[in-house]
Amino acid sequence: MGSEGRQLHFFYFPFMAQGHMIPMVDIAKLLAHRGVKGTIITTPLNALLISRSIEGERKSGINLGIEIMKFPSAEAGLPEGCDNVDIVTTREMAGSFFKAVSMLKQPLKMLLEKHRVDCLVADMFFTWTTDVAGELGIPRLVFHGTSLFSLCVGDSIDSNAPHKTVESDVQPFVVPGLPDQIEMTKSELSDHTKTTDTNSPFAELIKAVRKSEVTSFGVVANSFYELEPAYADHYRKAMGRRAWHIGPVSLCNRNTADKAQRGKNSTIDENYCLNWLDSKELDSVIYVSFGSMGRFSAIQLLEIATGLEASNVPFIWVVRKSREGAKELCLPDGFQERMEGKGLIIRDWAPQVLILDHPAIGGFVTHCGWNSTLEAVCAGVPMIAWPLSAEQFYNEKLITDILRIGIPAGPLVWSSFLEAIPEAALVKSEKVEMLVTQLMGSGGDTTEMRRRAKVLREMANKAVEKGGSSYKDLNRLIDDIRMHNPLDVCL
Ligand code: UDP
Repeated sequence: MGSEGRQLHFFYFPFMAQGHMIPMVDIAKLLAHRGVKGTIITTPLNALLISRSIEGERKSGINLGIEIMKFPSAEAGLPEGCDNVDIVTTREMAGSFFKAVSMLKQPLKMLLEKHRVDCLVADMFFTWTTDVAGELGIPRLVFHGTSLFSLCVGDSIDSNAPHKTVESDVQPFVVPGLPDQIEMTKSELSDHTKTTDTNSPFAELIKAVRKSEVTSFGVVANSFYELEPAYADHYRKAMGRRAWHIGPVSLCNRNTADKAQRGKNSTIDENYCLNWLDSKELDSVIYVSFGSMGRFSAIQLLEIATGLEASNVPFIWVVRKSREGAKELCLPDGFQERMEGKGLIIRDWAPQVLILDHPAIGGFVTHCGWNSTLEAVCAGVPMIAWPLSAEQFYNEKLITDILRIGIPAGPLVWSSFLEAIPEAALVKSEKVEMLVTQLMGSGGDTTEMRRRAKVLREMANKAVEKGGSSYKDLNRLIDDIRMHNPLDVCL
């Protein structure tokens, strides 16, 4: 019954942050290629970026469009045009940002009323969309944008509070009730997980997110069964969530243009970047990037630069200005000149998937954001796991302990992306050099890690091919949404 009946129409409502918008747009593309009409709802500035990413689909006549909603920046006390988390720099701004987001309820309802919509795929942070869609009889799917592993770990920690049993921030505790023995420390947990303040707005939001997993139609996961089978089962069976794993969604971008046009405009010419990589040997270059939000202190930037130089390994490094807001990148004197030909420095935004997929890339220093992690898996590239914030410390355990395709840069300390990374989390240049040399070397452990990464790459590609686990789960999702409206089945 999968593709029978009238054409389904899905609405996609991504949270306004690159790490949330990029995979949601990929999901919309994937479903559009299976004949599901898609409309992405977003705000003016974000619409400019998204329309670039779906240009290819539109040119080939695929039914994928954008509906723009005004972002109430001024009404929420934000500067005009502040409609992406990128621009948020303080806790006060973050509070106002979420206030503006909550004002989108009515405009969303009006849009849903105007169109005939079969399903609303809305970001985890938009917990209220379940009710808005429900009032109109529309099923809402939650999109988290993280691993099933991290959803399982997060749920166990929130329910059992194992960190309350330890005496110090660095004493390990076991996360209970999981398929594997996962150890963590309090210093790796987020502020909202550890808080004892019962009025913490973010802790409340996370509670509402967990509740909406249960009250919504289900959860759509950017993962594939074979990557984390025990956690896919745990999530569905032990935690009782209804979920479809349809990833890795970045694999829907097959050609150079699609791979290069995700997120923001690259600050480097793609062909220059590819030519530079073409001049390097297989698996010889390390790619260093900390996602769309990662910003270091000037001291940490200096340590990374010094460590990379000392390692003598060719690199591509995506650098943002330091947290202190200095006008220039904080790099050692003469660094860029000395690195000519050896290291490519990209300011602000790189065509990441294009880079990772190049055969010359042999390692990735990553903050363990889920998109970056999966993109590395798809490219068969082992990692240095350097988590900073959000749920990245959970993903780190998956990379290093479960999948064993990465080495930890830690011990490190969780910090909010709005605050300075604590002194204790500073990774010194000697450590950077040691990690890079180890990952890019030919020691037994590294060779085995590289082999495992390549096996996972094959599995990821198989999962999204016709007949693969994610391909089939996407069919199942389409069928389930069609079944939700039984009248349509008879049309
Ligand atoms: N990204 C990119 N170029 C950059 C930085 C990030 O294309 O210079 C993309 C990356 O490929 C990924 C997303 O932005 O798809 C970042 O998501 P992730 O979950 O890794 O981290 P976040 O930014 O949410 O912390």
